[in-house]
Amino acid sequence: MSVNPLPAVESSSPETRNARGEWRPPYPIRYAPVFRWPLQLGAMLKWLVSNPGFMWPRNLVLLLIAGGSWYLTQPALPRCVHFEAGWIGQVYVRNLVLMWLYYGAYHLYLYTLRRQGTKGKYDARWPAQNSRQFLFGDQVYDNIFWTSGVALLVWTGYEVLTLWLYANHHIPYLDWARHPVWFVAWLFVIPFWRDFHFYWVHRFIHWKPIYHRVHYLHHKNVNPIPWSGMAMHPVETILYLSVGLIYWVVPSHPFHFIFTMQHAALGPAGSHHGFEGPIANGKWPTGSYFHYLHHRYFECNYGDSVIPFDRWFGTFRDGLPDGEGAKLAGEHRD
Ligand SMILES: [Zn+2]
Ligand SMILES: [Zn+2]
Repeated sequence: MSVNPLPAVESSSPETRNARGEWRPPYPIRYAPVFRWPLQLGAMLKWLVSNPGFMWPRNLVLLLIAGGSWYLTQPALPRCVHFEAGWIGQVYVRNLVLMWLYYGAYHLYLYTLRRQGTKGKYDARWPAQNSRQFLFGDQVYDNIFWTSGVALLVWTGYEVLTLWLYANHHIPYLDWARHPVWFVAWLFVIPFWRDFHFYWVHRFIHWKPIYHRVHYLHHKNVNPIPWSGMAMHPVETILYLSVGLIYWVVPSHPFHFIFTMQHAALGPAGSHHGFEGPIANGKWPTGSYFHYLHHRYFECNYGDSVIPFDRWFGTFRDGLPDGEGAKLAGEHRD
């Protein structure tokens, strides 16, 4: 797979960029201190509660969004016994609003208002315009179409179908009042399940026959923006969001399911915006250099930086500059 060479860009910021105009963090990527041997309990606990860490901001923010949207916008389960326009429309509009608020906020701040210019922007170029690669000749409109148009429908489809299954007692239901420990424990497990599922789906869609028909669409975004997050071929979106199918067999409350789906559908905004966090004058930890490197180099970093699948399977790239140590795994830099 070829990697488009990037043109040299004169940066408007005082930061150092390489000859291709790329900005790089001054450190190699590290994995979260979870899957290390011997166990480092102190480091694990610190990672759980630190800022940024496991809980704050990413998982807790998404949990708060799920909680708020559950109490304010979730149709009562008895209404979901039959497929009816009222509650289906309610779920669709709820997801549409969430998507535009979450993706839109990153896009507005970083790309429309350009509040921090190219400071910390991995690729100094702004989104492609007049490009035959993208629908409507425009990367932003293309990405919005796939994310807010197509992926939103798949996301909502999964939710509608699964809520109908819950309402008709076709899948196991967990009562939070009778099983409070399991209810809370599940919330901690969900981000790990997401990582596990994402890695294996992602490896599968990099299999050449699937890549060339399906995943190529997401990888048009060598220079990703927030809306690139769910800019996927519908087959990829169906596979990616199948993360929620676990609830068809594991006893869970519908809230676990809604949280998982929102985690998967909204989370990619933060991992695709193309800026090194923290942003907003150092106030908001966000971004994923780990996943940016996947978009830049394709055959590395398929997973995320919590479960070290890429290190275990030899596809980890830590981000050190070319020729100075950017190597595929085997190099345990954490
Ligand atoms: Zn990929
Ligand atoms: Zn991506």
